[in-house]
This record gives sequence, structure tokens and C-alpha cells, in this order.
Amino acid sequence: MRSSILKLTALLSLVILSTSSLNAQRIEDLPRIAMDTLDLGSTNAKVVIYTNNTWDFYFPSLDSLVARNVYTTNWVTDQVFAYKGTSANDLPASMELTLFKKVSEYKCPVVGRVTSKYGIRRGRNHNGIDIPLKLREPIYAAFPGVVRYSRYNGGGYGNLVIVRHDNGLETWYGHLSKTNVEVGDYVVAGAVVGFAGSTGRSSGVHLHFEIRYQDLTFDPERIFDFATGDIRYQNFVLEKSFFNIRSNASELLEDNDEEIALLATEDGQEITSEDILANIEKIQEAEAKKLEPVYYTIKSGDTLSRIASRNGTTVSELCRLNGISRNAIIRAGRQLRIR
Ligand SMILES: [Zn+2]
Repeated sequence: MRSSILKLTALLSLVILSTSSLNAQRIEDLPRIAMDTLDLGSTNAKVVIYTNNTWDFYFPSLDSLVARNVYTTNWVTDQVFAYKGTSANDLPASMELTLFKKVSEYKCPVVGRVTSKYGIRRGRNHNGIDIPLKLREPIYAAFPGVVRYSRYNGGGYGNLVIVRHDNGLETWYGHLSKTNVEVGDYVVAGAVVGFAGSTGRSSGVHLHFEIRYQDLTFDPERIFDFATGDIRYQNFVLEKSFFNIRSNASELLEDNDEEIALLATEDGQEITSEDILANIEKIQEAEAKKLEPVYYTIKSGDTLSRIASRNGTTVSELCRLNGISRNAIIRAGRQLRIR
């Protein structure tokens, strides 16, 4: 009896020893002790170097935290738009944004069912998502940042809070029954920015939530899974094409025909990795064409049907894209979206 207990103990300690020696190889298990700091010169921030070969920014005070460029340039507190005059064309094709470094640095603003998605709704742009809530449910800041706007907005948002974040993203929280923060407040992720309501152009209590970069919107479902409250990425690649109102997260998240297309060639031959790459390229080109709007400058004597046939489209498609009727009068010199 005793010997079997001894054997078991010996076996257990062997297991513990072997797992701990494996774990010792992992950098996150090494002691993380601050070793040194580096000055960054232009800002008050310092870089802290740790013993486990990692580093982090260090901001000596809240003042220096909010004094960073992102919180001083294009800092407008009485209007919703802060980057007038900039357009998607000025931005790079894609940008990598760090969404959080620690799990305490994000929080899904509310968890619930998205009843209205990002996209075109009844002919108007719906620049965010809607989640129905109970009156006065708390709404949380998605990331740490500084409150840029917190007031009643007559344009339809009702009581609106806008928080700008370190990476330049802004999160917008609309139709609040009451705001809970003031312009200039530094908020942590999960801070209550306001309470659910139905102020502004709203029918029923819900949160209207947007994420913007330099005033430009993209689908918030690209970042959060609102059904679970999970975040999808730590480092998010924001592509310029995402700013198109017709570009939404479901392209990535739902099964679609394109995925099936990858598995079979037209002639039923065995598929090679080169075929797959060629297919992916073809699909991406088609997607890019679909998303990139193309405009045509109307010339005198043009008619909708002539423009349609010359550009390989139809009159009804032109009407849909431009929100005009078949009988609309078109004027030379004006731009018409043809794709
Ligand atoms: Zn909405």
C-alpha cells in the first residue's frame, strides 16, 4: 500500500516537473520586471523594457495620456464630424490597428441581437448596427479613450456619446436616454457612457452603435460578435474597401458560394493549389470591382439607356445606384455612378 502511494507520488512529481520545465520556455511565464525606460523625446510617454524581453508604453500622468496627438488634432467637441475634407481616397489601402493589449482593454458595449445591420436600409445608409434593449440599460465604452462628444444631437442620433480611442477609431453610442460622461473625460473600457433610450430618430429603445475611422464608417460586426460579447481580433486590418456601405462583416462570417467555388474546377479535374490561388485572385478581383464605385461624367446628348448599354449595365441598375427614376433629367457634366 505504502509503496504504491510512494510510486504514485513519484509519478505525479515527475509529471509536474516535466510540465513546469516545458512552461519555463514560454516568454509570458518569465518574470516580468521593469528593467529600464527609454524617453520618446517628442511626447511625455516612455517605453518600459521588461526582463522577459517585452515592452510597453508608460504614460506618467493622465494629462500626458490625453495630450497625445490623437486626442488633440481634429478634436471637435460641438459637431459629430471631426475630419471634414478627408476622404477614403486619402487613406492607405489597409491599416493594421491594435484593438487591445490586455483583455481589460475592451468590452462589447452591449450584448444582444443585432436587429438592423450595417448597410442600406429603406434607401438610406444605416451606418451602424441596432440592438434592442430595456430602457436605461447601461451602455459600456468599447475601448479606453477620451470622450469627444456628449450631448443631444438634432440630426437623429438623439443623446449621443462619441469616444475616440488610442488607435484613432471612434465609437458612437446613439439614442441614449441619458449620457453619463462629459467631453474630455478619459474612460476605461467598460465605463458606463450612458443608458439605453429612444431619443432622436428612433422607434423603440435600442442602442445604435457605430465605429468610425476619420469620420468614415465600417461594419461594427467586423470587430465585435454582439451575440456573445467577444472581440474578433487583437490586431485588426482595416481595409479601405470596408468603408463602402455595401461592404459588411457577413461577407467573411457567413458561408457563401465563393467558398464552394474554390473546391471544384469547371471541367471536374483534380484541383491544385495553383488553381485555388487563381480562384482566390479571381474572386478578390470580382469583389474589388463590386465594391469600388465607378462614375461616369454625363455628356450632352446622353440618355440613361445609352449610358447603360455603353457601360454594360441596365437602366434600372443605374436608377438603383443613383437613387433616381427612369424619367429623371440628366445633365451634362454631372457624375453618374455606373457601378
Ligand atoms: Zn441604427
